[in-house]
Amino acid sequence: MSFKIALAGNPNSGKTTLFNTLTGSNQFVGNWPGVTVEKKEGRLKGYREVKIIDLPGIYSLSPYTMEEVIARNYLIEERPDVILNIIDGTNLERNLYLTTQLAELGIPVVVAINMMDIVNKNGDIIDLKKLGEAVGCEVAAISALRGTGIKEAVKKAVNAAEKNKFNAVHIFNEKLENIIADIAARIDISVTEEQKRFYAIKLFERDSQVLQSMSNVPDVKDIIETTEKEMDDDSESIIINERYNYISSVINSCCKKKKKLKLSLSDKIDRVVTNRWLAIPIFMAVMFIVYYISVTTVGTWAADWVNDGLFGEGWNVFGISVPGIPTIMEAGLEAFGTAQYLNSLILDGIVAGVGAVLGFVPQMLVLFAFLAFLEACGYMSRIAFIMDRIFRKFGLSGKSFIPMLIGSGCGVPGIMASRTIENEHDRRMTVITTTFIPCGAKLPIIALIAGALFDGAGWVAVSAYFIGVAAIVVSGIILKKMKMFSGNPAPFVMELPSYHFPTAGNIFRSMWERGWSFIKKAGTVILLAAVLIWFLQGFGFEDGFGMVEDMNNSILAKIGGIIAPVFAPLGWGDWKAAVAAVTGLVAKENIVGTFGILYGGFDEMAEDGYQIWSNLAMDFTKLSAYSYLVFNLLCAPCFAAIGAIKREMNNAKWTWFAIGYQCVFAYAVSLCIFQLGKLFSDGSFGIGTAAAIIIVIVFAYLLFRPYKEKDKINDKTKNVWSINRKVM
Ligand code: GDP
Ligand code: MG
Repeated sequence: MSFKIALAGNPNSGKTTLFNTLTGSNQFVGNWPGVTVEKKEGRLKGYREVKIIDLPGIYSLSPYTMEEVIARNYLIEERPDVILNIIDGTNLERNLYLTTQLAELGIPVVVAINMMDIVNKNGDIIDLKKLGEAVGCEVAAISALRGTGIKEAVKKAVNAAEKNKFNAVHIFNEKLENIIADIAARIDISVTEEQKRFYAIKLFERDSQVLQSMSNVPDVKDIIETTEKEMDDDSESIIINERYNYISSVINSCCKKKKKLKLSLSDKIDRVVTNRWLAIPIFMAVMFIVYYISVTTVGTWAADWVNDGLFGEGWNVFGISVPGIPTIMEAGLEAFGTAQYLNSLILDGIVAGVGAVLGFVPQMLVLFAFLAFLEACGYMSRIAFIMDRIFRKFGLSGKSFIPMLIGSGCGVPGIMASRTIENEHDRRMTVITTTFIPCGAKLPIIALIAGALFDGAGWVAVSAYFIGVAAIVVSGIILKKMKMFSGNPAPFVMELPSYHFPTAGNIFRSMWERGWSFIKKAGTVILLAAVLIWFLQGFGFEDGFGMVEDMNNSILAKIGGIIAPVFAPLGWGDWKAAVAAVTGLVAKENIVGTFGILYGGFDEMAEDGYQIWSNLAMDFTKLSAYSYLVFNLLCAPCFAAIGAIKREMNNAKWTWFAIGYQCVFAYAVSLCIFQLGKLFSDGSFGIGTAAAIIIVIVFAYLLFRPYKEKDKINDKTKNVWSINRKVM
């Protein structure tokens, strides 16, 4: 018989670990229709016809987070044959809250109590038989990590699915039961008998999404209102309270926690790590080490190996020189006697362009391994906990800090690190704003502008970071108030799983999944972009159409001439500046290189481009140069980072929104800097100045306008968690 087993449970209860064990390599990873929450499906090893679905981690079946909505829609609409509810055995109270709700769906449920290795180590005792009787379904004890008890749990799930036996649902107090029965009696036959209880409870809770999904909504307002008056509480809280009363009674009868005479090691670590004063310094130190190792030492060796070796000159091994890919290709192409433009396409376009991007991969892998470790051992949740209060204020999550920190080295791994943010709004916002922080490749532009026009003043670089941070804060506040980012507020919940040592296999898998998806997806975008820019830059009309000697004759220069006027209000309507900004899309350090070619015919430039400082100073004023700098810092990042944005957004519309927002934002800020700067320095006033003033007013409005979150939902969400906390 073929059927479906859905794995449901709280985040971090071990669903994915179990899923990987159950399905082996036999799995399909995609996204849930319409959203970017990961969807994993696979076949049960040894039972070809049994399909397993790893649902997003959820705390309840309420409709407050997207994960909840996805999991719930799946359960209600697809109706798997059995739900395997994974429970963290070290945290029964919180986990059973979901169990009480799953049991009401009218689908057979088998409970797998996970983390039994820790439960046993702590010396706690869970009476499985009693627990099974109390919650009305089969219970199995497992350790997904160690692989114990899994076979038995699966057997129970398969059995339950075959028998299609419903669970004995837990009973609320008599009064509430009567009310639920009254409501259920008003539901017509469009709802099957076994689902009536679920719908009755949801009707009582006034769950709008469930109401929408019903073809015939009975009017039960009178029942709800009288009950609320009698019990002096809103209907949803009444149910929540009842669930927790029930859970406490279950726990009391089935579990014996060993009296904790001393704190567990995990608690001891937390005392230090989340300490009010030590938390941030420790966090800084940890991130410094991660950053230092992955960006400088190990990361640099690895990157150099790829950039200078594999995609560069090659290596010198014990005096024998081993050629890199370009040298080999060049020799190969020469041997074939291919046309010059084909050589150039392959070497300057494809190998150079894609090579520049693949150069990020080693650093990324080192970094991802660290992140996977921090995530798996439990420290990541602490970081989020520490930073969340600050970041929440501008619409980001505590976890946004890591992408931004990494982004100061390179935006590509920075954007990809946003993966660890579960909430979709927070993740999108992080992806959009991460590249505002100047990455390593933008440092040469800063050095060039500072050197050519500001006598190398240090404040130019400092202000670049300051502007980056300010752009993030301002964007966060503005975007947070927009409709697309409002709506379901993320529930304010932080859980701190106990620390444990992750397995090497898990870390490797996580590192590889992220790295490989970058190579695959970002690689295609970058390949196309590199070829396109190569063509525009290398071809044009000299003696007829063909490859050009002088870049001034290239198509890119012509396009630069056409788009340059767009930038005139920013103070740099010169085609050279516009062209340099466009080549910056391939890699930001190209801007300096392009200036080198355009302003002095230098092919090889110093990092800070001092050779052209004097020429550059003739074409720019301090103000226009600064405006140019700011534009390049804030506008769309390089193609590699755009590829990463595309990968993380997994949605064309959002990718374009991110790029569009960055460009418009950069344009607006640069315009204000140049126009208002001019107004204050020489008092000149024109259309541009008026536009700048309007922009400032609009910014101020967007920043300070009153903002109503969906208050009601928000209150309720808090409510759920405050009650939840009490129990924990
Ligand atoms: P999910 O969020 O439900 O998918 O949970 P994961 O499968 O990602 O697991 C969360 C963390 O718990 C990971 O670090 C796992 O290594 C760890 N974990 C999972 N199962 C067990 C277990 O049985 N024992 C222990 N000690 N850790 C586990
Ligand atoms: Mg998971």
